[in-house]
Amino acid sequence: PNTQYEILRRRIFSNTKEMWYFINSSLKDLKKKANGIAPELIDSINYIISMGLEHHRSLMFDIEQLEIVDGYSVWREKEAADMSNLVQDRFRYLQNPENCKTARKLVCSLNKGCGYGCQLHHAVYCFMVAYGTQRTLILKSKGWRYHKAGWEEVFKPVSDTCTSIEGDSFSNWPGHEDTQVINLPIIDSLSPRSPFLPLAIPEDLAPRLVRLHGDPIVWWVGQILKYLLRPQEKTTAMIQEAMTKMGFKRPIVGVHVRRTDKVGTEAAFHGLEEYMSHVDEYYNYLELKQVVDKRRIYLASDDPKVLLEAKKKYPHYEIIGDPSISKTASVSTRYSDSSLFGIILDIHMLSMSDYLVCTFSSQVCRVAYEIMQNYYPDASAKFRSLDDIYYYGGQNAHNVVAVWQHEPKKNGEMHFAVGDLIGVAGNHWNGFSKGRNVRTNQIGFYPTFKVKDKIQTAKFPTYSEMYK
Ligand code: GDP
Repeated sequence: PNTQYEILRRRIFSNTKEMWYFINSSLKDLKKKANGIAPELIDSINYIISMGLEHHRSLMFDIEQLEIVDGYSVWREKEAADMSNLVQDRFRYLQNPENCKTARKLVCSLNKGCGYGCQLHHAVYCFMVAYGTQRTLILKSKGWRYHKAGWEEVFKPVSDTCTSIEGDSFSNWPGHEDTQVINLPIIDSLSPRSPFLPLAIPEDLAPRLVRLHGDPIVWWVGQILKYLLRPQEKTTAMIQEAMTKMGFKRPIVGVHVRRTDKVGTEAAFHGLEEYMSHVDEYYNYLELKQVVDKRRIYLASDDPKVLLEAKKKYPHYEIIGDPSISKTASVSTRYSDSSLFGIILDIHMLSMSDYLVCTFSSQVCRVAYEIMQNYYPDASAKFRSLDDIYYYGGQNAHNVVAVWQHEPKKNGEMHFAVGDLIGVAGNHWNGFSKGRNVRTNQIGFYPTFKVKDKIQTAKFPTYSEMYK
């Protein structure tokens, strides 16, 4: 298919959602205003909301059908597999140099003082820089807070042939082209910054990725996770056993409720009802397409009370979740060996789900979303975040480009012209996003449908010598 067609198809899909966010949230505001002063309007507004929702579902359904009837499904599957094979081959090549004694290396310590998702993202960032600078990544993981014996007991080593940090010359980042071993700090203290950081994707892959995938950077991160998280046999067996025991079945929506230490510090509290309203809508929509025998969710949380609450409040739902979660609930035991399997399992189950409802402020759900990309040609729309849009901790500015001009109609809206760059702060899920116009420096709200993503690329090596 031509790239323009694929982009257009995805754009109509996401802007249909944006239109509904706008109308639905405006009507809900109107209802609040009518309450008390014009109660007779409430019924009319409710009627518009419920009919509007049916319109919305029907449109979404038709747009999704396009993807099925346009004849490109086989191409999408094949292109996704080809792209994945291409980069996985390059990763193996980079990570298994012929001569480890002379190979250029990048050393990354798995000792960032944060949770499991955050540490995976740390490792992914290291891998991006390794791939970009064409250095074999050496992952130092002995004494890892999640598994003292190290990464290699849980996942396959990142290299089969080259795991020693030895070399003739050493330096901390940035070092020189001919320094053999370079130590990489965490992304937050990287200086100078590298061009290979998110949201940059490899320039040589960009044209194909832009055609295939709705959010290429998520695909790119997903590919690196695919390589890094190749499980050891013991890990595979544990996951298999747990999945069988819990009875993982489709359809299933993955729900991640992040509570405890995150709430009030890094994220706001969201009640279970809010998550479940999106799950309900997912199933209402799915029922247009197929018979749903049972509404099912996989529920992951760092707070064990959430699973009990869900089972009590939603008896018509089949709720699957790891009951041993209580072991990982307190902050003191969270970063320990015993909690590692719990979080690996939860992330795996979330990523295997058909759709995710969660808060993207949590690295746990972002990791699940990234891994999910490995199971579909393009799973970029299979989520609903209650707060942030997708981001990568430490990323360079996320910019969008205006495709329509905008004149502010209400307080707080920004002005922009076609072609202006806007740095995104977040989507408010009401038809508007917040950002800063790079040209005028104005900060404000803009209608999300009036922009498109600016894809960032960097000149990563293309590894063409591996075929010689
Ligand atoms: P964030 O703090 O949510 O952005 O994600 P991190 O992964 O960096 O840190 C949160 C940590 O809390 C995780 O690594 C887990 O140890 C724990 N945690 C959070 N949510 C869950 C969950 O749903 N299941 C389990 N088992 N642990 C969780």
